[in-house]
Amino acid sequence: MHIKCKLTDGLTTFKNLHFCGKFYKKDIKLKYEVTIGLGGNVGDVKRRFEHLFIFFKRDKRVEIIKSSLILKNPPFGYLLQDDFLNSVMILRTNMQPIVFLDYLLRVEKKFGRKRSFDNAPRTLDLDIIFFDKKIINKKRLKVPHPSWSKRESVVIPLMDINR
Ligand code: AMP
Repeated sequence: MHIKCKLTDGLTTFKNLHFCGKFYKKDIKLKYEVTIGLGGNVGDVKRRFEHLFIFFKRDKRVEIIKSSLILKNPPFGYLLQDDFLNSVMILRTNMQPIVFLDYLLRVEKKFGRKRSFDNAPRTLDLDIIFFDKKIINKKRLKVPHPSWSKRESVVIPLMDINR
């Protein structure tokens, strides 16, 4: 069940049991705190986020600390596609940044991601927004994510998580 709230003409939020801005973990064991962005606009994305939540919960390599509400918002770049659903999660892991990036890329693939062109429709997109307090400027990985502060798809879920 989802609680729906229309923010503006283009923006709608959804809350459910797992995506509602609440804390999950008190006994933290893993070393790094990572904020990831989730997105998708193909098929039943809310259901996919739910499956992703369960996947992370069962995976010993990550701990779920918090997850935000889900935001429905219009696409950018390539506009001839459905609205996106986005959320953010705070996880903990012992993986190093590049290892964690490769892990997320494998998870995207597991959840049906196919790469075609920039800003194309997608089943699941996972981005690293923050990785602890690290600043990373490698060819394959930029952290904090270069466009996080310009995207309402990240900023609005982040505001929810930091309420
Ligand atoms: P996309 O899935 O279209 O967002 O792009 C994924 C690619 O962006 C990955 O293969 C990474 O090499 C690169 N990338 C650079 N910085 C990041 C980041 N902070 N989070 C996720 N991917 C990143």
